Amino acid sequence: MGTIAANLQGLRSRMALAARACGRSSEEIVVVAVSKTFAAERVAEAHAAGQSTFGENRVQEAVTKITELSDLALEWHFIGPIQANKTRPIAEHFQWVHTIEREKIAVRLNEARPEGSPPLEVCIQVNVSGEASKSGVAPGEEIALAQAISRLPRLRLRGLMAIPEPTPDPALQRRRFALLRKIKDRLAAQGYPLDTLSMGMSDDLEAAIAEGATMVRVGTAIFGPRNR
Ligand SMILES: *Cc1c(COP(=O)(O)O)cnc(C)c1O
Repeated sequence: MGTIAANLQGLRSRMALAARACGRSSEEIVVVAVSKTFAAERVAEAHAAGQSTFGENRVQEAVTKITELSDLALEWHFIGPIQANKTRPIAEHFQWVHTIEREKIAVRLNEARPEGSPPLEVCIQVNVSGEASKSGVAPGEEIALAQAISRLPRLRLRGLMAIPEPTPDPALQRRRFALLRKIKDRLAAQGYPLDTLSMGMSDDLEAAIAEGATMVRVGTAIFGPRNR
């Protein structure tokens, strides 16, 4: 891996190529730089290279980093599993939450979103891999959750998110991302127009872009491998 600046440049070329191949522009695709496990200094380094949107999946680690970097104008996206007792710090420190899969969590985030802050931008996480994955609502269950979220004034439903089970098979990658896009179209037909498809990571972002991703969540390709 090169420096973070070089990695970001490489990522932008990859995205531009993938977008051009399907008649899209990569300008319309947001990169959420997934900084989990990396220190605040690495986030600052990415910011200096032009990246301002970051994703984290652990509340405690994220809040420490967000506080440390509060003088930079960064946008923070929560992309991890949400425990009911962690909804307050999430609602207080993040602008986006990608991983809503239960009404109870949405209600708690709504209650905890501070007065005077803009609504929390949220996505419903959908399980597009069937038995292989447990996270996200099953396809078909998204409509009830969308209805519930639309009644919560401190949340704004923006779209859908998926983390398909990893597979090296590009055709299978595309089928799963296509399913998420179809679910988004179905919600639009039922009166929930959404503008966000959060899908694609370091290893499958080409397939996601081909199927209409508007946000990709990229860690390794920017920051390098994580220590487990
Ligand atoms: C870690 C993580 C990513 C980034 O994965 P990479 O393969 O490192 O790009 C994306 N989305 C979620 C939800 C993650 O937890």
